Formats: sequence, structure tokens, C-alpha cells
Amino acid sequence: MRGSKKALDLSTDMEPVHGSIDVAVPPNVLWQAFDQPHLWPRWNPCFFWCRNRRLALGDQLIWCFEPIRPWYGYKFPAIAKIVELESGRKVTWEVTVLPGFYAQHTYCVEPLPDGRSRFSSWEKAYGWGFRQVSKFWIAHFTFVKDRSLAGARQLEIRNLAGDRIDADTLPRRNYLGFLFSIVVWAAWIYALARLEVWPLLIAAALLAGRLAYAFYDLYVRLAYQRLAPGVHAALNGGGNTLLVEDGNDVLMVDTKFPPASQAVMRWLRKNSLLPVTKVVNTHYHYDHAHGNVLFPAAERFAFERVPEFMTARDGEWWRRHMAVLPDHLVPAAGVTIPVGGQYVELTHLGPGHTQGDLIVRVPKFNVIATGDLIFNGYYMFFDESNEGVDLSGNVAKLRWLAEQWPDAIFMPGHGQVARAGDLLRAADYIEDLLTQARAVRAAGSTERDAPRDIDLRRWNLLILPSFHDGRLAWATAASNAKAAWRLAGQPP
Ligand SMILES: [Zn+2]
Repeated sequence: MRGSKKALDLSTDMEPVHGSIDVAVPPNVLWQAFDQPHLWPRWNPCFFWCRNRRLALGDQLIWCFEPIRPWYGYKFPAIAKIVELESGRKVTWEVTVLPGFYAQHTYCVEPLPDGRSRFSSWEKAYGWGFRQVSKFWIAHFTFVKDRSLAGARQLEIRNLAGDRIDADTLPRRNYLGFLFSIVVWAAWIYALARLEVWPLLIAAALLAGRLAYAFYDLYVRLAYQRLAPGVHAALNGGGNTLLVEDGNDVLMVDTKFPPASQAVMRWLRKNSLLPVTKVVNTHYHYDHAHGNVLFPAAERFAFERVPEFMTARDGEWWRRHMAVLPDHLVPAAGVTIPVGGQYVELTHLGPGHTQGDLIVRVPKFNVIATGDLIFNGYYMFFDESNEGVDLSGNVAKLRWLAEQWPDAIFMPGHGQVARAGDLLRAADYIEDLLTQARAVRAAGSTERDAPRDIDLRRWNLLILPSFHDGRLAWATAASNAKAAWRLAGQPP
């Protein structure tokens, strides 16, 4: 559709979808990544592929979006024209190829004091074609905005770790899942055309395989990220793991659970980081502690009540593995332990994700492992036992951490590496959840009504699997709403 910026500004078809993030990356470095569209898929998770090498005024930009939710399985081709380009600062493109649809999208990099930048995304559309499926478009624009800002955050963390941001160093995209999907589609088209038993069975088996691979890719496959010299995060495969090496000492914060802990073990071996000399369990949950079995010779640290929580809540497993219970118990006042030539602080902040959390701070590099106080970008798992969560405490601890160490790199218990802004957002999420839960409870909503009456859409979080009592459970908007409803009924 032929449209114009003026008509777009005047249109009331939608409020612009807009957001920004402040990052400790100089504007020219950020722009360098931004100026090479073919690199976008390697840092901005909303892009699947982009053809253009450079941004140029008047050029056609051709790319493919990822789906709003990974399991939707589609790829969304797009074509736009670059109508505004201020090198180092701003780019705008317009989309006109769809009938009755006109949209503009602007990305902006503004310089801030101290060499930092503000990265923003702005998008608006109008037209009868837009109005037909405006719900989809707004969800899509919101997805693009949120993932783009999250991508800029990951560039910031790479920059803080001292890594360059360019074609040689950005992590490569894995297109195996996509190729697998093409095979599944082809098998189904063939099977449905033939309508015979064997092709249908094979197509069904391939689909099941594709879903299993997607699960592995999203939640199980480990991602290693360097946070500072000698400091790495091993993300996914249970709780995230922080590794700190110095001299002959290797500290491991949270040990995941087998088989993911064996995968970390292989990585440690490959990188000559064995033996692990010290282990910290940030709290008693199995996905942060069952991997202790692989490190029987290490000194194992945890908050002083954690062995008691482990044997009370997860006793069957721990009775078979008593030898690897935490044996160095950290009092409420905290301790400082040597790791090679540096010191690491283990601090108990009081009730939060559980009644026995530790945070681990590496002062030399200002890196902090938060444990499960934050599930960065995901719905949370709330432990409703006596040893479990204190929602208000969780909020307070996140805000305290963000205020105390505004410039730290935070490794969350789950999800991508974070900064203070992400902790504040996670605190706002829990507070919103709790406030809504109390309000709907007071208004007479039952537990069954809670997912309908508590609206969490604006947080745009992803779902997260975990195993409880041998069953696969998902942290979702509905599970969080119900848990908050129950917790809101407990005496303070
Ligand atoms: Zn946990």
C-alpha cells in the first residue's frame, strides 16, 4: 500500500510500539554491529536471516523474522525500503508490499554520558489490511521490540567482557533446526498426499523428533559465555552455572543435574579446568545441586540451613548421595573465600527465592551469581513449601542488588546474563503479579479464575520447563498466576 509518514502520524489505528534500553557500549561500537544487517541474526533473536551487507538509503532490505513463540514454527519473510538513514544514529524503513498495510520501523542509537548508549525501537502501522489482523501485528511488533532490546543487552555484556562485536566473534547461528523442519514439512505433504499408513507414521515420528530437538535446543543445550578473564557462565541444562578459575583453584557456582552436569564436566576437561576445587550451591533445588555428585573432592559451600532443606524436601535422592551434601556451611553473616589469588564473597540476603539463598560475588570483575532470584526473561518457578519462596523478599532482594551494584554483570539462575535494569524489571514483574493476585483474591476470584483475571501479557515472558516429582512441569503465565493466588492467601 502506498502510504505516508504524515498519514501514519495522524492514524489512530494503533499506539506506536516503542521501547529503549541503556547499554554500556559506545555508540560507534553499537552502530558497527547495527550497520551490518547480515549479522543481525547473530545478536538480535527476532531475526532469522538478513540478506543486506550494509545499510544504505533507498535500498531494499530483505530479511526473515523468527516466530513470536519458538514453537509456532513459521519463518516470516519481510521486505522494506530504507527511507531514512543518519549514519551512527538512526535508520527507518517502510513496509508497503502488503495490501492495505503501511508500517514504519525506526531503530535509534543515542549517545549517553560516560560512553554509553541508548538503543531504541519504534514501530507503527496503519491501513485496512493492518486492522484486519491488528492483534497479530501488535504482538509481532512487541516481540520485535523486546527481542531487539534483549539483543542489545547481550552486545553490552560481550563488550563488558572485553570481546569484540564483529563478524569474527559474534556467535554463529545454528540452522540445523530449520533444515530439520523442512524435512518434516516435506514428509507431511507427501504423507497427506498418499494417505497411507507408513508415510504417515514416518511423518509423525519426524515431527516428534523435531519437537524433541526444539526442546533440546531451547532448554538443554549448554551455551558458554565468557564474562571476564577466567570467568565463564554455562547457561541452560538446569540452573545456570558460573565458573571462576584462578591459579590452581576452580570455583563452580551451581552444579546443574545429570546429564547436563556431565556436559559441563566435558567442557571443563576440554578447557583444562579440572579439578573443580570449590562448589557453591546457591540454594537447595535439585537443578542447581544434584551435579554435586561429580565433584566429591571439592569443598562444597551453601547457606547453613541448605543441607537440612535438601534432606527434608528432596530426601530420597540426597540419602543416596549424603557424601556430596554441602559440607562448608555459610552463616547468615556470609563468608569470603579465596579462589586462587582473588576473593569471592558468599552472601545470604534473607528469604527470597527460598529461605536459604546465597548470592556469589566476584569483586575483582564485579560479576554476581544471583541464583534463582531472577529467571531472566522467563516465567518463574515458585517453591510454595515452608523452605520456599517469599515473594516480597524476592522483590526486595532484586532491588537491593540492582541498587548496590548498578554496574555489575549478573548471572541469573535461569535465562540470559543480566544487568541491573533486568533485575529491576524482574522485581517489577513479581510485584505486579503479587499485587494483581491480592486484588483478584479480594474481589472473589478463585484459584481457577486466577489465570484469566491476572493479566501478565505485557511482560512478554517465555515458558520454562522443570521436573518435579519425576514429572515435566512448565512455568507459564497460568502457573505463575495460580501460584501467586495461593501465596497471596498465606499469612505474611
Ligand atoms: Zn530454584
